[in-house]
Amino acid sequence: MRKPVIAGNWKMYKTDDDAVSFARDFLPKVAGVDDVEIVLAPSYPSLAALISAVAGSGIKIAAQNMHFAKEGAFTGEVSADMLLAIGVSHVIIGHSERRQYFREDDEMVNMKTKAAIAKGIVPIVCVGETLEEREKGETNNVVRIQVERGLKNTAVNEPSSLIIAYEPVWAIGTGKTATPDQAQEVHAFVRGLLSETFGEDTARGMRILYGGSVKPDNIKALMAKSDIDGGLVGGASLDPASFEKLVKFYM
Ligand code: PEP
Repeated sequence: MRKPVIAGNWKMYKTDDDAVSFARDFLPKVAGVDDVEIVLAPSYPSLAALISAVAGSGIKIAAQNMHFAKEGAFTGEVSADMLLAIGVSHVIIGHSERRQYFREDDEMVNMKTKAAIAKGIVPIVCVGETLEEREKGETNNVVRIQVERGLKNTAVNEPSSLIIAYEPVWAIGTGKTATPDQAQEVHAFVRGLLSETFGEDTARGMRILYGGSVKPDNIKALMAKSDIDGGLVGGASLDPASFEKLVKFYM
């Protein structure tokens, strides 16, 4: 059984005060939720405050990016060791906004993914096609390239040490969600690719999240699909009441 993961990507929203007040409001709402892994990805300056605020709750904290080098003259960057030192356990890698605005390519995604895994940080590796690519019938091809290049030579011991997020670019922040069938089709395809790379048993245990305008009113139908193991959520993760509904999708 794959434990579902509901991850909130706060992007460049919320100061550390906002993050702590979210935690104060949110923690009692999800006390006792054991069957869903909850991950929150605030901006770098809020990581430490949020980690303290959720201590003891089981909620995992992710960074939204990370550099692949151990250390060095990389102004503005943050390393895996720096994240580990404050208690970060997950990191989002290759989000489409990083690919689009910061020119991250599959090679960079690969270096970051390998660096995270080597340090024991769980990468949430994002893949997904643009609207143009979907309309041209290139979805599987684009996703295949992103998965194969992004995960090349990645050593995974446990299925839980890597999470994939399928996020069609046309669905992110647009209010347009892939239908559960559209998402399931790509998720099954991705699981097949993971199986080729890591073997069937490992692939069967890996979580593949869907992202792209996930909301309280569509999560249940998405989660009913056999290869959808959770959500990577932007907008609807910013409000504690809305994120609570996502975490409790099964109710
Ligand atoms: C995201 O940031 O990964 C995302 C899917 O955003 P939204 O839920 O707002 O579409």
